[in-house]
Amino acid sequence: MPPLNLHELTHEQLRVQLVRWGFSSVHTKVLWNQLYLGLAASFAEMTGIPARLQRHLEAHATIGVPPTVRETASRDGFTHKYLLGLTDGREVETVLMRYSGRVTACVSSQVGCAMGCVFCATGQMGFTRHLTAGEIVSQAVHVARALRDSGARNPDSASPKLDPTRDPDAQAMPPPASPTSHAIRDMLGKAPEATAESKCHLLDDIPPVAAPAKRQLLDDIPAEPVGGRLRNVVLMGMGEPLHNYDEVLRAVDIMRHPAGLSLGHEQITLSTVGVVPGILRLAAEKRPVHLAVSLHAATQAGRVALVPVAKKWPLDELIAACRTYSTATGRRIFYEWTLIEGQNDSEADARAVGHLLKGLPAQVNLIPLNPTSGYAGAPSRSEAAKRFQRILRDEFKLPSTVRQRRGIDIAAGCGQLAVVG
Ligand code: SAH
Ligand code: SF4
Repeated sequence: MPPLNLHELTHEQLRVQLVRWGFSSVHTKVLWNQLYLGLAASFAEMTGIPARLQRHLEAHATIGVPPTVRETASRDGFTHKYLLGLTDGREVETVLMRYSGRVTACVSSQVGCAMGCVFCATGQMGFTRHLTAGEIVSQAVHVARALRDSGARNPDSASPKLDPTRDPDAQAMPPPASPTSHAIRDMLGKAPEATAESKCHLLDDIPPVAAPAKRQLLDDIPAEPVGGRLRNVVLMGMGEPLHNYDEVLRAVDIMRHPAGLSLGHEQITLSTVGVVPGILRLAAEKRPVHLAVSLHAATQAGRVALVPVAKKWPLDELIAACRTYSTATGRRIFYEWTLIEGQNDSEADARAVGHLLKGLPAQVNLIPLNPTSGYAGAPSRSEAAKRFQRILRDEFKLPSTVRQRRGIDIAAGCGQLAVVG
């Protein structure tokens, strides 16, 4: 039997496993704490565990500690990208992003992706394999460890290790603008306002990559260059999470557990290209995640040109599934729209989105195209993005945001993650 990676197990599975090994389930709690609050990287460093159990774990189990093959830091000072090694020699990319008082991990769900979206570097590399739940969880733990370690080097910004309920930013941060969570605000852009009239922030400017003076003008200014606690996980790295439904949702269960990483449903966001059966399953199971759906075009033909799997799950079926999801869960969906100059950023495109999403609880998140080697398109200009937003707001009362550009210089932006081989 190969050793068991404990990051693969839910809290309940860990309890059962301990009993199966002949130990009392009473040890589950302390072991779980060591894994997800202590962020233990070895059994030797664990405290509060009987020596016999420790020896057994050393012999029969492992903890996910993916080696960092490469770490790159963006010039923006707030984005780190990690190339992590997997046990079979494959690699994945994970991104850490710091925002004002909080930290988000963008984790991968697959090595590569089978969906083939034309503008996406992950799609361009093709599909290698699904990640296991443990490999997904280990990425989040890796980011949490990196944060802890950077906090240790800078004690002023260190986060508490073993107290998941303490929020180091509680005083500094106002409560999130309901119902938009920090995770959504981080990845999807500025938060919408509460009233219908002011529901959409018009884009002032796409933030420059390295211009600290200008960055002060933004309302989502990274406040601290180091430290902090992992607050949000977005499944927006490499891969299509709903193509790997069971492992991804088991990882969500593990990351949510209140005695561990303790990420609430407001703090985990899953983005899908539009895998209709997966959306319907999420709806039926009422899974506790935020859902983002990548739309990019408001007609079937336009969508097929950018997202080939739209042939399999046509636009009308996708919108029907989204309606079912929102009705079943009472949740708004975030519709992502990669803005490509001359391709999907016209006034007519904006109106088509408005009509398509009419009556749905929705927010549109515009993502100016990031460069990838396999696609020649250009990002929309900021005037086009503003015009797009204005139409959605004024004609359709539809909130929208423009995603901040982060880590483009290290290819850590949306759709830029890829590995060789
Ligand atoms: N597979 C999922 C999640 C990963 S991609 C999905 O497709 O939703 C995360 C987001 O980045 C998606 O909205 C995707 O359309 C977008 N994206 C992909 N390539 C991009 C690029 N080159 N520039 C901007 N956004 C991109
Ligand atoms: Fe896959 Fe998402 Fe990239 Fe499309 S955009 S190829 S679904 S990772």
